[in-house]
Amino acid sequence: MIGAMTRHDVIIIGGGQAGLSLGYFLRRTQRSFLILDAEGGPGGAWRHAWESLCLFSPANWSSLAGWLMPATAQAFPTRDEVIDYLGRYEDRYGLPVRRPILVNAVERSNDGLIVRSGDNAWQARAVVSATGNWRHPHIPTYPGREAFTGMQLHSADYVSPAPFVGQRVLIIGGGNSGAQILAEVSQVAETSWVTEKPPHFLPDDVDGRVLFERATERWRAQQEGRTTEHLPGGFGDIVMVPPVDQARSRNVLHAREPFARFTPHGVQWADGSEAAIDTVIWCTGFRPALSHLQPLGITDDTGRVPVTGTRSSAEPRLWLVGYGDWTGMASATLIGVMRTARSTAQEIDTFLASR
Ligand code: FAD
Repeated sequence: MIGAMTRHDVIIIGGGQAGLSLGYFLRRTQRSFLILDAEGGPGGAWRHAWESLCLFSPANWSSLAGWLMPATAQAFPTRDEVIDYLGRYEDRYGLPVRRPILVNAVERSNDGLIVRSGDNAWQARAVVSATGNWRHPHIPTYPGREAFTGMQLHSADYVSPAPFVGQRVLIIGGGNSGAQILAEVSQVAETSWVTEKPPHFLPDDVDGRVLFERATERWRAQQEGRTTEHLPGGFGDIVMVPPVDQARSRNVLHAREPFARFTPHGVQWADGSEAAIDTVIWCTGFRPALSHLQPLGITDDTGRVPVTGTRSSAEPRLWLVGYGDWTGMASATLIGVMRTARSTAQEIDTFLASR
């Protein structure tokens, strides 16, 4: 039996940094809204990041709208400091977050959209999906992977190097996750590193600030219809945070081209040689967590939802915030999501006023 269906102007699905940032701007309108979040507490994906994860930008470059992240002990905030900040941010602005609530479906109704979680349902005149990507890790197909008898885990499930002491560990993926996990595991295990193309390390004095400035330059160029090919690096480039810098001094940061196939006990390289491997850690990124939108039939074959700005092209009462460049340049970062959270709140307010 469905519980009584409450009705809101806006339902935001996801209470991570993107959902909170949107809540901050919606608060300024007269719209009633609710944030439904699947986690047991604040912090979004940061709750699942590994223990030693640190941001690649300093605190004042990792803040949501309205409140600068307080200065942190180290130059780069830790995972726990981000979780603490997001929890205090919710309280500071009295954001209406209900958790833990996992939304299973968003459906059309006569006068809006219905958001369902088990036997509960909410009616909304507009819905915003801000569910991030952590719940949808991506592992590419590889010949022989099913026959590999060693351990495999995705970076989404990596917590610390403790389980890998004395092992032979293969880390796959050339972004910040791969580099930071390699830096840590290589201190307790024999590691090898595979990347699709040679990893691109940013200069030592470049951190997330520069990445954000570059992303902004690319965003401006796109807005003005200019080409962006000539503009340098993006968020896939590796920031030399202290643990990665320390790994460089241990001469660990050497990547190999992808191997040909898995064998039952390891991998076979293109030249036919083999290496015994105990554990593979896949640092191969994520895909947007959008299964709750499946009933709307609007997801394309890349697993994304075609949007104009952040608004669904096929369902005008639906917006998507925080998924990375396809929903706004740098929108998957703490500081970058502000721009599209602000514009989305304004667009929703205008849309509801017109109905
Ligand atoms: P999330 O943080 O994933 O939050 C989404 C929320 O929605 C979660 O609470 C989830 O439980 C909930 N949810 C999902 N599905 C449902 C559902 N169906 N129903 C209800 N709730 C749901 N960003 C930076 O700004 N600076 C950095 O230095 C930085 N470093 C990073 C380093 C690594 C290694 C990684 C992997 C990421 C890094 N990021 C960084 C990116 C950042 O962690 C994510 O992009 C960010 O967490 C995305 O925020 P979000 O709110 O969009 O999604």
